[in-house]
Amino acid sequence: MRLFLLLLSLIFSSCAANRKAEIDYYNVQFAEKPRNIILLIGDGMALPQVSAHIYWQGVGKTIFEKFKVVGFHKSYAYNDLVTDSAAGATAFACGHKTTNGAIGVLPPDNHPCPTILEQLSEEGYATGMVVTCTATHATPACFIAHRELRAFTDEIALDYLKTPFDCLIAGGEKNFDERYDKLNLVDSFKTKGYVVKRGTNLKNLPMDGSKPFVVFTDDREPPTASGGRKYLPEASKKACEYLDKRSDKGFFLMIEGSQIDWAGHANDRNWLRSEMEDFDRTIRKVLEFAAKDGETLVIVTGDHECGGLALTKSDSRKEFKPVFSTRLHTAALVPVYAYGPKAELFRGTYENTDIYWKMRKALE
Ligand code: MG
Ligand code: ZN
Repeated sequence: MRLFLLLLSLIFSSCAANRKAEIDYYNVQFAEKPRNIILLIGDGMALPQVSAHIYWQGVGKTIFEKFKVVGFHKSYAYNDLVTDSAAGATAFACGHKTTNGAIGVLPPDNHPCPTILEQLSEEGYATGMVVTCTATHATPACFIAHRELRAFTDEIALDYLKTPFDCLIAGGEKNFDERYDKLNLVDSFKTKGYVVKRGTNLKNLPMDGSKPFVVFTDDREPPTASGGRKYLPEASKKACEYLDKRSDKGFFLMIEGSQIDWAGHANDRNWLRSEMEDFDRTIRKVLEFAAKDGETLVIVTGDHECGGLALTKSDSRKEFKPVFSTRLHTAALVPVYAYGPKAELFRGTYENTDIYWKMRKALE
């Protein structure tokens, strides 16, 4: 009996030690305007995905419920009420609607549009991206590449050498060093002074900000969160800390929970659940940084809904039954969560392109 009690008390004390004190995200004196902007995109994440996540985790337990500023964006593309991720990300990156499949180019003649990452890089900000897909996938591509079609992945890889970004953590190394044109772009990065690493060990990066870096987390697409992929939260935190040291002017960081969308296409509720958990952990790390920093504007949104997810009544009164109505994207409004200096700009209902203009305005 005494041993039992001892064990019990040990278990309780270790639980208490593991429970981290919750940060009061709003007990912070924000600067008048942001120095840094972090844009987090949950691909395929709209209200149904966030709702499911809240009910799966338990009401009051998710990071989404912490935000005091919420808005909605209309995700439709230039020529289609239902957008794809290329037109969706081009809207965020450039501030203009484009045709589905287009990467950083605009109708009618597919002329390139400058992206916020390129512009801020030019203006002396440090810039970076952290994603759970290949670097050449539509969402990250739209921030740095200009191509008529998202399928031109080897061409998109070439565009990464044209903008002096500071850090990239993504899958898809093969698009850089196993190419139809036999070029080795990994060597090109090294020639340009980048530290290039492979795998998900994030140690030994130039965290003092002395050099730019690329981490290829996978040859091709990284695994799913439930299949063992863990790097997004930690990599995002590291990217914030690194970029903060990299420029006196400030930084722009795009982080993508890329596979929320793939779970939607697959109509796979378990996959969706684990990707949303991973994205939640990532947002948490970013908000911890922003709360300490006070000069960082954080925006969390999706590019579009995917799967037409409905939270229907189940036999149990405590659970909902997730029902997908399509394997494609839908035109549902997408929530936008904002935190930090100038967050209030993101209230209301507006175009997806306004995300770009509001970010620009915040930095004015
Ligand atoms: Mg994407
Ligand atoms: Zn999709």
